[in-house]
Amino acid sequence: MPRSTSSTAASATPEGDARFPGEVDVAIVGSGPAGAAYARVLSELAPRLTVAVFEAGPLISDPPGAHVKNIGEAERRASAQRASEGPRPFTGATSTDTMDGYASDRSRLQRPGTFLLDKGWRQDGEDGLPAAAMSSNVGGMGAHWTGACPRPGDSEIIPFLPGMPALLAEAERLLDVSAEVLADAPFADEVRERLSVALDHDRAADRRVRPMPLAVRRAPDGRLLWCGADVVFGDVTRNNPRFTLHPEALVTRVLLDGAGGAVRGVRVRDRRAGTDHDVAARYVVVAADSLRTPQLLHASGVRPPALGRYLNDQPQIVYAVRMRDLPDPPAAPGEGMGVTASSGVTWVPFTDTHPFHGQVMQLDASPVPLADDDLRPGSIVGLGWFCAKDLQANDRVAFRDDEQDGYGMPAMRIHYRLTEADHASIKNAQTEILRAAAALGEPLDDTPPLVFPAGASLHYQGTVRMGATDDGTSVCDPTGQVWGVRGLFVAGNGVIPTATACNPTLTSVALAVGGARSIASAER
Ligand SMILES: Cc1cc2nc3c(=O)[nH]c(=O)nc-3n(C[C@H](O)[C@H](O)[C@H](O)COP(=O)(O)OP(=O)(O)OC[C@H]3O[C@@H](n4cnc5c(N)ncnc54)[C@H](O)[C@@H]3O)c2cc1C
Repeated sequence: MPRSTSSTAASATPEGDARFPGEVDVAIVGSGPAGAAYARVLSELAPRLTVAVFEAGPLISDPPGAHVKNIGEAERRASAQRASEGPRPFTGATSTDTMDGYASDRSRLQRPGTFLLDKGWRQDGEDGLPAAAMSSNVGGMGAHWTGACPRPGDSEIIPFLPGMPALLAEAERLLDVSAEVLADAPFADEVRERLSVALDHDRAADRRVRPMPLAVRRAPDGRLLWCGADVVFGDVTRNNPRFTLHPEALVTRVLLDGAGGAVRGVRVRDRRAGTDHDVAARYVVVAADSLRTPQLLHASGVRPPALGRYLNDQPQIVYAVRMRDLPDPPAAPGEGMGVTASSGVTWVPFTDTHPFHGQVMQLDASPVPLADDDLRPGSIVGLGWFCAKDLQANDRVAFRDDEQDGYGMPAMRIHYRLTEADHASIKNAQTEILRAAAALGEPLDDTPPLVFPAGASLHYQGTVRMGATDDGTSVCDPTGQVWGVRGLFVAGNGVIPTATACNPTLTSVALAVGGARSIASAER
């Protein structure tokens, strides 16, 4: 992308040995929303700095980092999804907007545009994370996500960061979050009203049922556009002459000074040429997702005691209902309004009294065939309740020095168990989801709420968590700088130290804003 929004990777940077710069001020590893937030804030606040983003995966969309749903043509969308699926992409013939084929191994639940760990996802006698997934492409998972951007509340809030509300507001700006964009979907107000009557009586005003804030915008022609890393980068980054983006560039090592107390750059593998290059940098930001950020630190010999630990995924329970007795049909949605034009998304916020995050989505079609034919768009409603994990130091991603993954990086071993408290929380969530469902309508069938396999939330946190002090239970300080390694920052959901149930990307982008600002102010 340097200085352009070219759609071809080849034009992004010169080929061969000269493909990468010899030296930059800031090297960012990973081009998902968190890495993009660093690039954006540095482009705005410290335009004198040279900034390079190194991304292991290919360029799949234009502008770089754009969401695959914004690719109008189905075949191109499918090929962008396949290109994101790591070293061994899914090969079955499937339509891109369905889970056909991907869901054949239901116990693991792979989504289009993501890939699962091929081994190491469960250890003997443990629960493991069967559905732990990653994406490798410019834009990361942010090119495939749903865009739900709720703010954390009550115990989800990081207690030692008083500036968080302002950072969250800035993250909402970078992700172009709006609660209005789907709020007028057919029967969305009916969904909110029915849920509100049943659930709002003991909630504070700011934690009542409401439209879900979404990183989705409406184009002038009425189409819905999902905001990904392209929106976070923004024109200010794309037009920054000191910014470069390097797809198919795997960072294999963070280079440190002799004593290991400061960064001096990154080692980058050109995945097209198979060659390695050292790039000098004064700051290195590792925003390579919650599993691969600790992997890169481990590979670089940066191994604080908390690295990879406190891994947490939000247990997820799903259910579906059909609303009856609906008011008069709403106006039909306009032409060309995108693949989920008639969907509304409603948010039931997490509170300490009701410690679940509820995401209620009106579906375009029923997941099960219905006998009669009076189905009205927006009347089938899917409920997803996310729980906060009971955090444990022993839940962790560990790495092998004698075995490599598909990228040649240290192989992962997931150690993960659900505690008694987790089982109780899942049971309570099943009760709560049935209460919400009963307020909305009638069940689609007689099966109980389904508990998704662990990892299916796609929200993994804690593995490079921040802490107020360096007491061995955290990896980085409140700005994201790794304890004891000057200039090395970590970013993404792995930095979040609290047990959250809400979707984490808004929070991790907010934390990235804080980290980028601390670099910018040190450089003023
Ligand atoms: C289907 C789906 C729906 C989702 N819905 C939501 C939602 O509604 N709300 C929400 O908050 N979240 C959602 N998520 C999760 C959300 O997408 C992630 O939280 C978010 O993308 C994380 O951003 P990130 O920048 O930290 O990491 P990522 O977006 O995962 O990006 C990390 C990037 O780093 C690259 N990388 C890794 N290792 C290296 C290396 N060594 N060298 C170079 N590059 C490397 C990867 O290739 C990847 O592109 C969803 C995800 C999916 C797949």
